[in-house]
Amino acid sequence: MKKPKFYQLTKDERLATLVEQGHLSQTDADCLAAAEPLSDEIAGNMIENQIGQYQVPLGVVQDLLVNQQVYQVPFAIEEPSVIAAANNAAKMARANGGFVTEQLTRLMTGEVVLEKLVDLVAAKAWISGNNDHLFEVARAAHPSIVKRGGGLQKITPTIIDDRFLKLELQIDTKEAMGANIVNTICEAIAHAVQEQLGGTLLLSVLTNAAFESVVIASVTIDPATLTTATLAGKTIAEKMIAASDFAKVDVARAATHNKGIMNGIDAVVLATGNDWRAIEAGVHSYAAKKGAYQPLSSWEWTTDQQLRGRIELPLPVGMVGGSIGILPTVQINQRLLKVQNARELAGIIAAVGLAQNFAALKALVSDGIQKGHMALQAKSLAIAAGATETELTQLLPLLLKATHLNTATATELLAQLRA
Ligand code: NDP
Repeated sequence: MKKPKFYQLTKDERLATLVEQGHLSQTDADCLAAAEPLSDEIAGNMIENQIGQYQVPLGVVQDLLVNQQVYQVPFAIEEPSVIAAANNAAKMARANGGFVTEQLTRLMTGEVVLEKLVDLVAAKAWISGNNDHLFEVARAAHPSIVKRGGGLQKITPTIIDDRFLKLELQIDTKEAMGANIVNTICEAIAHAVQEQLGGTLLLSVLTNAAFESVVIASVTIDPATLTTATLAGKTIAEKMIAASDFAKVDVARAATHNKGIMNGIDAVVLATGNDWRAIEAGVHSYAAKKGAYQPLSSWEWTTDQQLRGRIELPLPVGMVGGSIGILPTVQINQRLLKVQNARELAGIIAAVGLAQNFAALKALVSDGIQKGHMALQAKSLAIAAGATETELTQLLPLLLKATHLNTATATELLAQLRA
């Protein structure tokens, strides 16, 4: 008998396989299998007014090849087709040498804004002339990040609209995403500046436009490897490039192009305990940085007629801080990923985004998005209609043959099966 594929195994068999392959320890596998909720002590202390817990499935994308290293990537996601698509793209990319990533800088930025200053030009000059004092204020505000080799790196004062004085603070937050570290330093500098210059302190807070934490991932695909039963690989590649070009001139398409990318990115960001709202805000501000909202990735021919995809986006993710050290599943996910530091994690996440985009574009220009989606959507409909595990095996083939794949059909077919 043919060996079942990973996705055809039961959850316990999948966990056993990951243990066998050395990706998970038995203790971590047991912990995932037990699927215990957070203790009230943890959940109740993490947020205000806690009244329960909200479950999202955790899955894995296997063997994602990034910078010649193979990763098992945890995805926390409720949308049925995302992991299947990413797995498919991971497999194709692996056959083509995998993803390559780079990150030039990894800094967070904070803003301190004052208004109602008597002399904006003199105020700006004071900032530039008193950097040493302001750096000392920053060090005193957060000594532990300085001990770790990070802290304030640069202060840039700008006059905006002949009204505001903005100080842009670039801060190295090391292995943390750094929102709280940045905010602490911003507030200390804000008070020191206002004490000297007067005026009104408007705000001092990090910006989620983390444009100093941009990651680039790319992949090069031999078009022949894209060939399907009905379409030549070159035709698919040409259409993928055209679809990518179209997203550059049509905001309606760019939004969905980027949503497909975020399907994978948010799933890994969530699974690794990072702040997905921060990542979303940063990514979309980056997409709009030139004034018109743009796709985060693009596809083109190389000079030797290979299909090349490239994604560029800010990914200020952390390995420590926030809820990362508190949520037990996040610790397991970090161990499953075998990721050493925040830069490596950001590279993997960028590759995941490009993989997701690859899968979506390929499906769109060949079979259409619904073929793959609906097979998985049918499962969700059947479960929502109340089908048990045993009923699912009988119901799904019927549902997939039905003219209208919807809740009413699922309910009706289930009733017929039970009659
Ligand atoms: P923390 O406030 O938890 O700070 C990180 C802590 O991790 C540091 O204080 C540091 O402790 C510790 N740490 C241990 N090892 C390291 C290391 N190698 N490098 C750096 N720090 C280390 O988290 P963040 O500052 O990262 O803030 C993230 C949180 O802020 C998230 O929960 C996010 O949701 C939230 N947030 C987000 C905002 C936004 O995005 N706009 C706004 C406000 C909050 P030590 O003191 O010992 O050095």
